Order: sequence, then C-alpha cells, then structure tokens
Amino acid sequence: MAIIVQKFGGTSVGSLKRIEAVAEQIIKTKNQGHQVVAVLSAMSGDTNRLLNLAKQLDANPSPRELDMLLASGEQVSISLLAIALIKRGYSAVSLLAAQIGLKTNNRFNKARILDIDTTRMLTELQQGHIVIVAGFQGCDDEGNITTLGRGGSDTSAVAIATALHAKECQIYTDVDGVYTTDPRVDATAKKLDHITFDEMLEMASAGAKVLQNRAVEYAGKHKMPLRVLSSFSDGSGTKIEFSEQSVASHPVSAITAHQDEAMLSLVGIAEHGRVIAMLFNELANADIEVDMIVQTALSAEKINLNFTVHRNVYQQAQLIVAGLNNVVQIDALSGNDRLVKISAIGNGMRSHTGVAASMLSALYDAGIEVYLISTAEIKISVLVKQQDLTSAVQVLHTKFELNAKK
Ligand code: ADP
Ligand code: ASP
Ligand code: MG
Repeated sequence: MAIIVQKFGGTSVGSLKRIEAVAEQIIKTKNQGHQVVAVLSAMSGDTNRLLNLAKQLDANPSPRELDMLLASGEQVSISLLAIALIKRGYSAVSLLAAQIGLKTNNRFNKARILDIDTTRMLTELQQGHIVIVAGFQGCDDEGNITTLGRGGSDTSAVAIATALHAKECQIYTDVDGVYTTDPRVDATAKKLDHITFDEMLEMASAGAKVLQNRAVEYAGKHKMPLRVLSSFSDGSGTKIEFSEQSVASHPVSAITAHQDEAMLSLVGIAEHGRVIAMLFNELANADIEVDMIVQTALSAEKINLNFTVHRNVYQQAQLIVAGLNNVVQIDALSGNDRLVKISAIGNGMRSHTGVAASMLSALYDAGIEVYLISTAEIKISVLVKQQDLTSAVQVLHTKFELNAKK
C-alpha cells in the first residue's frame, strides 16, 4: 500500500463547501487503496487577515508572536477537514506540526525544516486513519512555534512526503497545473504536462507562486515525485521531471513576474572595493537578501551600483545605505520601489543564442523601459515598472510563441 501526500492550498479549503469537496477527493484516493496524508493551508484570506491584525498593533510585530498567531490559521482548516471526513464515516486525525515532530531552525517567519519524526503518522496510517497535517508551521528546539514563509505549506508537503517515502507528493491548487505564465496575467497561457525540475526551480524563485521555491528545492534534493493539480477539476496536472533535460526546440518555456521589487542606486562611489564589501556585509547582517546587482564604471576612480531587494525591506536598505554615506563618499543616492522583475526561463537557452536580444527588442518595441538585466544559465530577467507588468509578460509570452493554439 503506497503513501500519497496531498497538499491543498488556501482556495482549495476556502469554504466549508470546498472542505467537503477536499474530503471527497481524499476519500477517492483512499478508496483506490492508498494511505493518505493531507497537508493543508489556512482557509484563503486567513493568513492575511491574521497578519493584518498583528500589524494594526505593531508595524513590526515580534517575530515569535507573529508565528504563534499565523500558525493558528492551519489549525482551523485541518480540524474542519477531519470533522468532514469523520462525518462521512472515515477515521481521520488532524495533527499540528509539533505533534509530528516537524523540527525547524529558530528563524521565525522563514524557518527551515530540519527533521520530521514519522512515528506518529505511520502509526495512524497503519491503523487505517487518514492523517491531516497543518502545513506552513514547525517547531524549534525550544518548543517555539515557527512558520516557513508565505506559501510554505508546499514545502511542508514535500518534506512530509520525503520523510514518509511517499509514492508522490500532489499539490492541489486553484489552477490545473503549471502554465507557460500565470494564467491570470495572460489568458493565452498554456498548461504544461511536464516541466523539468531546473525550469520549475527557476520559475518558482522568479515569481511563479504556484509552488514555493523551497518546496521545489527540497523535492529536487530528495528526488520526490511532485505533481501540481487542480482541486476544482479532474486531470493529470503537471509532473515535475527530474530526468535529464531533453533538447528543447524552443529557447523559452515560461515567463514569470516577481512582484514587489525595489531598486537602490548609488552613483559615484569612490574607494568602491571597500565600500561595496561594507555595504553587502551590512545588508547580510540585517538579513536583507539582495537579488540583482549591477556595477558600472563612472570614471577611472568611481563606479555606480544598482541593486534590488524585496519591497518590504526597501526602507531598511535605504537606511543602511544612508548610514554608509556618512562614512564614505557617494555622490548621489536614489531608488524606486515600484518595480517588478520579469523573467524568461527555458532549458532551451542552453542551446539557443540571442534570447536576451529578442527579449530586449520585444520590450523596446512595446515601449517598455528596462532598468536592469541579469542573466543565468536558463533564465534572463529584466526589471521594469510595476505598471508594465501585464504588458511585459504578454509581449514576451507572444514573442517566444508560448500562446495556446486557438
Ligand atoms: P495555493 O493557495 O493553492 O497554494 P497559490 O495562490 O499559492 O495557491 O498558487 C496558485 C496560483 O499561482 C494560481 O492561482 C496562479 O495565479 C499563480 N501562478 C503564477 N504563475 C503560475 C504559473 N506559471 N502556472 C500556474 N499558476 C501560476
Ligand atoms: N497559509 C500560509 C500562507 O498563506 C501558507 C500557505 O498557504 O502555504 O502563506
Ligand atoms: Mg501557495
């Protein structure tokens, strides 16, 4: 008898009606002879509602207490699902992360999973029970409740599936698979039956929130079979393939958009080696992740530096730069926190050239201004204005012939 882990996201458990539909879905899998472990998100909107409550009391709430609060959303959905299953005559047990020994480090709000004790889950499964686990949460060494970052239930599901040696980890969501771009941004997006692991990883880290990037990373590390499907309709969804990438005929497989980007620009930095080392050290000490970095020469002695951070930490980064400007010489500082990053991703880039040129000329022809460009082996990203997000995605989606044939 194989174990299947099924994760249901917020919209999938967004109402009692939806919870009943999820119960039916789980019963179907159980009746096919599988042992089922369901991992749930909070009901849609709940995590945001809780976050908003905390922020009304304090713009920067205590990270520990915030995790204590946010983790409560999942406790509601798992117990409701267990109630719905029991009512239907199926024995089910809901469990919090601490009850399955899901240990994380102590980095509140973005904790990483260290270990899972499978004893309780396996005992429940052996007794024929359906196990329902709260996603998104964990527990540190001292017994504090932690959370895994927004969208973290995907990672909970993959980690639990890995610990249980499940046959497959199925991520049920509100779209029927992974598309060539977010179908809500471009209605011509095409569903992909398969996607390579490398492409999925780049997509997830470049803004395709259909899977949390850590979940993809975790699946890759442990070769856990992963599939994205709809909880609203039948279908085989999208399978993430770990096999070596085939030779792609198209250079680009998908376009993604990453919201909430902010850019800081430092013009005319003297003694730049020392200043840049100081700057990035201070940003790292403040736990600020830097994404794109572009350095250009201004003169023989001076350089310009542009880098991007998440919009949430823009002000914090600005303070660090301003503080640095008191001790070193920078001619001018500026920034923009209304930007987004658009990326083209494809294994085909390994064998095709000229992708950046096509991308930049398509954006130029559409009158879209590009602030920064960065390239990686199978990804090219550009930073554009927030208001250009939809048109940039659509222009590139068309340019690389990803539209579904009508
Ligand atoms: P859940 O609550 O189930 O975790 P999410 O909202 O986190 O669901 O992720 C699903 C959403 O991801 C979809 O509704 C879709 O708008 C968005 N999305 C972004 N990029 C893609 C893509 N390439 N393919 C499919 N969905 C995508
Ligand atoms: N409920 C959490 C969130 O909204 C985790 C998740 O849904 O994956 O981010
Ligand atoms: Mg999600």
